[in-house]
Amino acid sequence: MKAAVYYSNSDIRTEDVEDLPVGPGEIKVKIMACGVCGSDVMEWYRIKRAGRPGGIGAFGHECTGTVAEVGSRVNPRWKVGDRVVVTHHVPCNTCNACIRGHTTACEILQKTKFKNAFGAFAEYVVLPEINVDRGILPLPDSVSFDSGTFVEPLGCVVRGQQWAPASDGRSVLIIGAGITGLLHMQVARLNGAGFIAVSDMNPDRLQLAQKFGADETILATEDVPWKFKELNDGVGADTVIMTAPAPVCVKQSLEAVGPGGTILFFAPTNPEIQSEMNLWNLWQKEVTITHSYAADFHNLSTALKWIHYNRINVTDMVTHVLPLKDTVEGFLLTAHPRNGSLKVIIHPQE
Ligand SMILES: [Zn+2]
Ligand SMILES: [Zn+2]
Repeated sequence: MKAAVYYSNSDIRTEDVEDLPVGPGEIKVKIMACGVCGSDVMEWYRIKRAGRPGGIGAFGHECTGTVAEVGSRVNPRWKVGDRVVVTHHVPCNTCNACIRGHTTACEILQKTKFKNAFGAFAEYVVLPEINVDRGILPLPDSVSFDSGTFVEPLGCVVRGQQWAPASDGRSVLIIGAGITGLLHMQVARLNGAGFIAVSDMNPDRLQLAQKFGADETILATEDVPWKFKELNDGVGADTVIMTAPAPVCVKQSLEAVGPGGTILFFAPTNPEIQSEMNLWNLWQKEVTITHSYAADFHNLSTALKWIHYNRINVTDMVTHVLPLKDTVEGFLLTAHPRNGSLKVIIHPQE
């Protein structure tokens, strides 16, 4: 079968890779659509495994397709031809992290992946038995394969706001108007936020933020915390959500949060980066600092329902749909946005 094999963000080749057999308990999925994620294009992280399968992490994971083959012993609810959303990461459900509700901090979840380790920028993936058990959602007929690719990124956003609520009229500052920032903004509205402002370096992205429902936008060349307070009756944000992984954004988050507020560091900075904080300020403001990683099955199922019932506009976020051989173009459009690029989806069967 054909798969896109990663060498660098500007060198991704379509190669013939091993078409794995379907073992007992396993399911083979024909991939119809796979979104390019911000984590796919984190070159410093991915280049270590360039050209090699195995341990490549979550390369090509926002995927939908149809069941192509069902192994022995599989629950008879799954049939060839079923439309599905599948997740590469599934928890053990028994470790301390899982028992305490942090299933995405589970070591098993972070190690699980598709059996064919090149990921879902490929014609097929084989789901290991544990993924078949707890990592497949039926995709309703009315949800397109493209829209279904948002289940994973939206699920991550749903999870983030579980730890950093935007409910009860809270004021929200979202730093970064990329795909996750725009999803966070829509989810904040749905969760009952009050005033929502979005900041970004790119004026085109701010226009998009306005289109998707931001109350105000702030150009990131301005003093973002100061500007937010000015727009929010002199008060800092009840909830700050950082989706842009730059040190300056960490600083802005710490300065923009208001008394009793919560900061969600949703995007990680590069592992070498240390960030300073002024504990005195945080102490006096009773600030909560939190993080979230990935999405659990509950978050994914919430995301799918919101897409199914049009609570979140994902269709207008798709700007480019490309065949497998143009995966490299999709990566470049994601890593260095141009021509209005926002969400890029790869169709491995084309
Ligand atoms: Zn993703
Ligand atoms: Zn666990």
